[in-house]
Amino acid sequence: MIDAISSWWVTLHGHGEPAIAAAIARQAQELEQVIFANFSHAPAEELATRLSQLTGLERLFFSDNGSTAVEVALKMAWQWWRNQDGGTGDERRQLIAFGGAYHGDTFGAMAVGDRSLFTAAYEPLLFNVSRVAWPHTWWGDGEVEAKEEQALRDLEQALATPTAAVILEPLIQGASGLRMVRAAFLRAVAARVKAAGALLIADEVMTGFGRTGALFACQKAGIQPDLMALSKGLTGGFLPMGVTMASERIYQGFISDRPTDTFFHGHSFTANPLGCAAALASLDLLQQQPERFEQFEGRHRPLLEHLSQHPRIHHPRCMGTVAAFEVDAGEASYLNPIGLQIQRHCLEQGVYLRPLGNVVYLLPPLSISDQQLQRCYAAISSAITALL
Ligand SMILES: *Cc1c(COP(=O)(O)O)cnc(C)c1O
Repeated sequence: MIDAISSWWVTLHGHGEPAIAAAIARQAQELEQVIFANFSHAPAEELATRLSQLTGLERLFFSDNGSTAVEVALKMAWQWWRNQDGGTGDERRQLIAFGGAYHGDTFGAMAVGDRSLFTAAYEPLLFNVSRVAWPHTWWGDGEVEAKEEQALRDLEQALATPTAAVILEPLIQGASGLRMVRAAFLRAVAARVKAAGALLIADEVMTGFGRTGALFACQKAGIQPDLMALSKGLTGGFLPMGVTMASERIYQGFISDRPTDTFFHGHSFTANPLGCAAALASLDLLQQQPERFEQFEGRHRPLLEHLSQHPRIHHPRCMGTVAAFEVDAGEASYLNPIGLQIQRHCLEQGVYLRPLGNVVYLLPPLSISDQQLQRCYAAISSAITALL
């Protein structure tokens, strides 16, 4: 069976990757877990140093998953401003996020995520966020400039209110349907956020570690955030771990004599040594063979071009290891049954997909061979012929 969605976007190199499995086994015999208050350990220190070098963000905070990595970024951004003005917190109360955003399933992450079927039950408990449209685009989109201009105007208007932070998924929004924006748009956003003095939070939980064709989407887009959330591919998809990267400026905002300036947040398995060992082994693999993610898009492109000639396939797009399109089959919604039908059809052919409603996408591990990738596209093609 080909796992064409990397088991929900976590499996980076392939299942059972021997180098990562061996690193975890070695670490388990040495130190499997230790409290990360008052203690530190070599794998965490090494991982911290390497992630800092790679992201250009000097500091980091460990947690357990993507949602907690986002929660930590939001809490840090909020408290950083509070610490700045001596604890009154009167000034910058607004958070800005984008339409279609998904940042996780804990309360803060849900609140900055767009309101949807997933959040409906908790609506009254979610704090307010200003929302700007996400001008996502696809091959042959004639309206992209107009959409971007409108979004930037809306952002400027929102930023006129004192803003603590703006959060976004750089280059590709994941859960709302692999919705891609152009790098130039993100640079324009980052410039406006900076001019307004607000903090920029990049949620790279899905896009990090080569998914967009560069190690991090922010690098590909040419933006430098103040905070960055990482998880999913961090350990190569072997173990749950989250990291929030922060600039030195953010870190310094928590260094003070006032106890209330402390960042009171911690998890039992903070910086779990097994997760750190897996992450280090995964980084080794990425750095030894960067062409595996840098050149992946060129493998998708001809196959997607061919597939998208089908009259019921719309809005094809691809970036890095991610290819997506929409199927013209009634309502564009997560509940559109066509997704499940395509999933079942492909499963019978040994290809595991998990469409988001009428959005079908491939997000395979780097280990997938050309022949296996062709099998994925052939399975989709046969599903569409059979079902539409
Ligand atoms: C998956 C995802 C999350 C949440 O990560 P979990 O590990 O599932 O909690 C947050 N942000 C983005 C962009 C994601 O894709």
